[in-house]
Amino acid sequence: MKKYLKSIAAMAVISVMALGIAGCGSSDSKTDESSNANTEGTTTEEKDTLVVATNAEFPPYEYYEGQEIVGIDVEIMKAVGEKLGMEVTIEDMAFDSIIPAIQSGKADIGAAGMTVTEDRLANVDFTDTYCHASQAIIVNASNEEIKTADDLTGKTIGVQLGTTGDMYAGDVTENVERYNKGFEAAMAVAQGKIDAVVIDDQVAKSLAEGNDQLKVLDEPFTEEDYAIAVKKGNTELVEKINGALTELKEDGTIQSIIDKYIAE
Ligand code: GLN
Repeated sequence: MKKYLKSIAAMAVISVMALGIAGCGSSDSKTDESSNANTEGTTTEEKDTLVVATNAEFPPYEYYEGQEIVGIDVEIMKAVGEKLGMEVTIEDMAFDSIIPAIQSGKADIGAAGMTVTEDRLANVDFTDTYCHASQAIIVNASNEEIKTADDLTGKTIGVQLGTTGDMYAGDVTENVERYNKGFEAAMAVAQGKIDAVVIDDQVAKSLAEGNDQLKVLDEPFTEEDYAIAVKKGNTELVEKINGALTELKEDGTIQSIIDKYIAE
């Protein structure tokens, strides 16, 4: 947990130093220059609260610190809310409940280190991306057999239910063990119950950091990009959020939030 720098002063210093270094670094995504956070003439969105669905089992993006949910996504969403003049409410739920919550209107958006995938695009729209990430492989520290993704064929792989790790693991083995929490999957590797875990890189690092029976392989399994999920067809909200994200990228806010949580 020592990586989660809490001091604002440290954040300010590091954000200047570490531009572009963080794993979840400056996104190379296209941004829509024509959209703007200052949405005059809004017709359909009268709400002043933005209900954000997340799964607070995903450090450093969203996790509990005491009773409070903190992390990169939470802070980015609060900054977006500020830009849009909206109050942000965070709703914690299972990862695979987030898209249904957006579809049913229980939540306005999902911010949960969520990777943009073709499958998900059939059910929700995505904003511009704000983080580049990868799926990493965690194995037992004593494991000398699994060195790269190629060595995972046919192995028993633990994943968090409904994640991209879950999707990709199924491509290389029939033995996929699905857990509600990445932490539980990591424990199973530590205890030698399964061979490996495929999970987002920063989460993998944070899990391995707290347990010397775990190691993260250098080579990632896949590369991917995170974005915020919005109800299908709500282009107005997508554009508003994209406008805010563009400003927050340009003024360095997003990078400084990332640097606050990810010290490389
Ligand atoms: N990035 C992964 C996905 O979108 C995992 C996200 C998560 O578990 N919060 O599926």
